Amino acid sequence: MTKEHYRHVYVVIEHIDGELLPVSFEMLGEARRLFDDFNRRYDLNEKVVAVILGHNIKNLSETLIEHGADAVVVADHQDLKDLINTIHTKVISQISLSKEIAEKIEPNYSQEFKKPRYMFFAADSIGRHLSSTVLADLDSGLASDVNKLVISDLDISHFVKTGGKRIMYKKTLEMYRVDFSGFLWTTILCLDNRNEKLSIREYSPQSCNVIPGAFKPLKPDSKRSGVVIDFQPKVSDDDLKIKVLSQKFVEDKVDFDSYNTVVSFGRGIHEAPEKNIKLIEEFAKQLGAQIGISLPISKSVFSASPTISSTYMIPARVIGTSGKEISPMLYVAIGISGAMQHVSGMEESGFIIAINPDENAPIKNVCDIFLKGRLEEVIPLLMEELKIQQQVVQA
Ligand SMILES: Cc1cc2nc3c(=O)[nH]c(=O)nc-3n(C[C@H](O)[C@H](O)[C@H](O)COP(=O)(O)OP(=O)(O)OC[C@H]3O[C@@H](n4cnc5c(N)ncnc54)[C@H](O)[C@@H]3O)c2cc1C
Repeated sequence: MTKEHYRHVYVVIEHIDGELLPVSFEMLGEARRLFDDFNRRYDLNEKVVAVILGHNIKNLSETLIEHGADAVVVADHQDLKDLINTIHTKVISQISLSKEIAEKIEPNYSQEFKKPRYMFFAADSIGRHLSSTVLADLDSGLASDVNKLVISDLDISHFVKTGGKRIMYKKTLEMYRVDFSGFLWTTILCLDNRNEKLSIREYSPQSCNVIPGAFKPLKPDSKRSGVVIDFQPKVSDDDLKIKVLSQKFVEDKVDFDSYNTVVSFGRGIHEAPEKNIKLIEEFAKQLGAQIGISLPISKSVFSASPTISSTYMIPARVIGTSGKEISPMLYVAIGISGAMQHVSGMEESGFIIAINPDENAPIKNVCDIFLKGRLEEVIPLLMEELKIQQQVVQA
């Protein structure tokens, strides 16, 4: 059995009121890089297909082609103006199963086409939800929060999937994500059941949602060409029961851009969370710094007074792949171990200081100065010295 009923990579594009989100370009860039290689190794006629839904969005097709798409499927309809999950799920599934669309993408495969070979969504609040409902509809699997992708032929022996026999799974999408606090990579594969003793079943598309910022977009190339395919969505009155009457975009609660210095803290505050956060607050004030946090702090792992928790233990302050990517002139990491998801959000900082008693913490490999010690002891010393230096400057 082969996956030849399954063709192309479909990339589900995100935009807000016609403004394409950076993650859309990042996914297209990665799909293009993977498919340049795929086209060389396997099949020249499989394509990168951008799928975009909305109202008055057809004008975005050229931009998507310039960023790597061979084909853009546009569902431009007033019922798709607002992002309602049930309707978008239905329309993306219709597009994914459509032989007519497959024919326009690549006539060679239209007869045998069943579904896309691969599908990419964004791992943000829209894409995470949408990817799960679309893949449930398409009856296949989904890997979440992926930040590395490889397509390869894998020789696999698995008790359930292959009945212990060695079987070659061609054109398999290896989807990598970080697990166990960021210290281990997990590879997720969406494999067909080929164990004759149990059940034979194909799983396609092989799909994932990818973390914003994980991949680089391509430089737009106006010489690139591609096909634009209009799709008329089939939406029933029943689907339109939910109406969006108004929507409001919430501004970022925390401004990092206007600060040259960011002081972030992590689980190292554990001995006395409230007291330590107040100490860090004072230190940041002295430095004129904004305050960031590691992800666990936003998950209520420690209790603190309502004022402290509502000000500091909030997602808007998270630095890293699940939060903000920042590059201040000075970044101070207090009680943060340096998991890769955190580091990817601050490694571009001009100068990095870490305060940590554990000299084996990975943050040591990232920082310019490692202050070995407990924050409770190191910060007061730094504050004392800063006070002296500031007095000297003022005198
Ligand atoms: C999909 C995914 C996305 C993620 N996204 C993010 C993200 O965007 N941002 C993020 O931060 N994390 C993210 N994480 C979590 C990440 O993997 C780590 O679990 C997290 O960054 C660890 O937080 P930490 O450094 O505060 O805690 P820990 O890893 O527990 O480190 C605490 C550190 O404090 C030190 N310490 C202990 N006592 C003291 C003391 N008295 N003074 C000073 N230091 C002390 C310890 O030596 C230790 O190094 C993500 C994880 C996943 C799976």
